[in-house]
Amino acid sequence: MNNTTEATRFNTRQTPNWCPGCGNFGLQNALKKALLQLGLLPHQVCLSTGIGCSGKIAHWVQAYGLHGLHGRTLPVATGIKLANHELTVIAEGGDGDGLSEGMGHFIHACRRNLDLTYIIHNNGVFSLTTGQASSTGRQGRKTQTTPHGAIEPPFSPTALALASGATFVARGFSGDVAHLKDLYVQAIQHRGFSFVDVMQVCVTYNREKSYQWYQKRVHKLTAEGHDASDRNAAMALAMGGTDDRLTIGVFYQDDRRAYQEELPQLAAAPLVDQPIGCADITALMDRLT
Ligand code: SF4
Repeated sequence: MNNTTEATRFNTRQTPNWCPGCGNFGLQNALKKALLQLGLLPHQVCLSTGIGCSGKIAHWVQAYGLHGLHGRTLPVATGIKLANHELTVIAEGGDGDGLSEGMGHFIHACRRNLDLTYIIHNNGVFSLTTGQASSTGRQGRKTQTTPHGAIEPPFSPTALALASGATFVARGFSGDVAHLKDLYVQAIQHRGFSFVDVMQVCVTYNREKSYQWYQKRVHKLTAEGHDASDRNAAMALAMGGTDDRLTIGVFYQDDRRAYQEELPQLAAAPLVDQPIGCADITALMDRLT
């Protein structure tokens, strides 16, 4: 594994095969810059990704990675973190993966507050499977699965994360890599479950939301003097947005103790470093038989 200190530390030899202009390039770039800024090395980072165009990011960031089942990024990330809580664990997937298939896992991960960073590549469409409607797509939008227009309104992942107990909630835009990198740095440093909802451009299957469309509507939260410790204010922001005004920045952060800090089994050392060869389970087996 490449542990060099130069700026290419997290590059792979492979070239991504995302469509030219895809917003996933922005997310990949921001993540590598954030990991570099934090002084991390590839062997200290593990990605857990789901199925979809976004899930391929595990192949194109030089670190440990597991590209797993559809909607199951968070259970896998949870297992990795509990086995070795010294790793920086990052789960990534699309809105189809995490907010349709994996919705239940998302809610419980927020509530549990394990020290993970979860990044949603939110492009409002199932893109790898060629453009079906997702739960964050625009109401009325015509797709392969909604030929007369989507009947259901989209929901807000940031509002759901807040309601479910996430202790760091932010939103970014794939076309502003410098700002997104700053969000990632804060999310990874946060000790607890951090969620970053990234509005990601899909130039192939969601062309109505182009870079130009977003650039006219995105505005940064910091300019408004938002208090990120105020959960009610964060919820109002998350619920109150419209397609004409898209807020990016840190919505909410608190310092509730992380799940792994409450586990006495992890106090001495990560599970992966604990000796298991000498465990005597005879008494347990006797009780069960
Ligand atoms: Fe990116 Fe959309 Fe192409 Fe997938 S289909 S690689 S999300 S532009």
